[in-house]
Amino acid sequence: MRLYNTLTKQVEDFVPNEEGKVKMYTCGPTVYHYAHIGNLRTYIFEDILEKGLKFLGYDVTRAMNITDVGHLTSDGDTGEDKMAKGAKREGKTVYEIADFYTMAFFNDMADLNIKKPSIVLKASDNIEKYIEMIEKMLNDGYAYISNGNVYFDISKAKDYYKLSGKNPDDLMIGVRDTVEEDKSKRNPADFVLWFTLSKFENQAMKWDSPWGVGYPGWHIECSGIAAKTLGEYLDIHCGGVDNIFPHHTNEIAQSEAYFGHKWCNYWCHGAHLNDSTGKMSKSNGEFLTLSLLKNKGYTPLDYRYFCLNSHYRNTLVFSYESLDIARNAFLKLKGRVLGIENTGEIDAVKKSLYLSKFGDAIGNDLNTSLMLTVLYDLLKDGEVNGATKISLIEEFDKVLSLDLLKEDVKEVSIDLENEILARIEERKEAKKNKDFARADAIRDELLEKGIKLIDTREGTTYEIV
Ligand code: AMP
Ligand code: ZN
Repeated sequence: MRLYNTLTKQVEDFVPNEEGKVKMYTCGPTVYHYAHIGNLRTYIFEDILEKGLKFLGYDVTRAMNITDVGHLTSDGDTGEDKMAKGAKREGKTVYEIADFYTMAFFNDMADLNIKKPSIVLKASDNIEKYIEMIEKMLNDGYAYISNGNVYFDISKAKDYYKLSGKNPDDLMIGVRDTVEEDKSKRNPADFVLWFTLSKFENQAMKWDSPWGVGYPGWHIECSGIAAKTLGEYLDIHCGGVDNIFPHHTNEIAQSEAYFGHKWCNYWCHGAHLNDSTGKMSKSNGEFLTLSLLKNKGYTPLDYRYFCLNSHYRNTLVFSYESLDIARNAFLKLKGRVLGIENTGEIDAVKKSLYLSKFGDAIGNDLNTSLMLTVLYDLLKDGEVNGATKISLIEEFDKVLSLDLLKEDVKEVSIDLENEILARIEERKEAKKNKDFARADAIRDELLEKGIKLIDTREGTTYEIV
């Protein structure tokens, strides 16, 4: 397996700490709103990486956090708390917001055939671990207390800028331009490990600590959860490119300070998906979510296929025209796969040849478009019989996860569609009249007919199951 490592800025052979085993950590979502399809691109890349490693025979343990506390609207430790902002927007508590959007996130993941990491922990459930780490960093002189907050002193870190490769002076200009200067810091790039109540009074989630009632900084949660679940050596750490600085840079500084040695060997970052404005933003005009795409008639796997066509390290620009092209190609591909007749005996020689070609595409810095090319080559190979093709596609789809061999759900007739929409209206009325028993009965009747209702913020949609 060869992978691009942001730490060394080159494609390298991947060698895990323990032979055959991979400890992988991926930054999870900040659950104050729906994930946008840019966020989801990163989770698709991480899913392919995990499944690709498994295809190549590695035993992968993957952990992920849910950021439900500590992430401020500015990465420079200032601004409003993102969760508090979400709660204010919707008139709910931060706990309700976190639960709702965590569920929405995992629904999107399931729709996109993204495997849930084997370990998922909420940031708010691991406070003791962060406190323990911060205490050690204070004792060892890596951290200091100033105006009620605990800060990490970046001048104590070994080669603080090694991941971002940035020039500290350039970086400082950027930081000063966008972030109000915090006079409590020794160095402008120092970051908060623990905030106290004195500075952020509106924070609803807070805990007692040796430094006063408060809450953890954003970066410590990932270091804490990774340390707690995966131990003191990590093989791979992933995220989107925006995480390189400051988030991952700070994770390295504090984890290495805490452990006293190098922590993670491979840092893999997914390039962004941008919209026509050049940035995918939750406040930027039409907010591109997976439900929005579904409402427009695309399937989640159309979007997954769209992402797999480009390399994870290339920025991808989203447009409905390019999604249409991907959808049509995907439809044709599925048609071809489902048209294969299961004839002949599995040819072991051909099978291992194609498995190794597919493995090479994975090993080539996770080249998803090359993986698809291997699939297309297989489809047109007249020397390979149907049974062999089908068994190979089954193997490839363990990584691609495009449901290639699954019969598509039938299109519903116009009449059935009208009937479903009428029932959805009837249910909405029943709910309005607080007749929840009736509303549930309508939902259950439809489910019995294989029609599953899905309630979203934009209204109710359905799915044929
Ligand atoms: P967040 O929920 O904001 O913490 O982000 C979740 C993940 O999405 C992180 O790994 C980010 O690096 C990643 N991400 C943020 N914006 C984009 C984007 N436009 N395209 C791809 N990934 C993104
Ligand atoms: Zn993180």
